[in-house]
Amino acid sequence: MGKVLYLDDFRPTVTDSMRCLFCGTVHILRHVTGTRTPYFPCPGCDETTSVPEWSLELR
Ligand SMILES: [Zn+2]
Repeated sequence: MGKVLYLDDFRPTVTDSMRCLFCGTVHILRHVTGTRTPYFPCPGCDETTSVPEWSLELR
């Protein structure tokens, strides 16, 4: 084969407004869509407890 496909390069990304459940920081984060990870790293407290604000509205 000799050919390597970097699938990560083709995954779509989205910019979401995130809210940290730990410290309440609201921040913008660009991340890959379709990820199963429900939590994202927070720049305010270094915890991985940020969720998209739209997901909060669905609850
Ligand atoms: Zn935080």
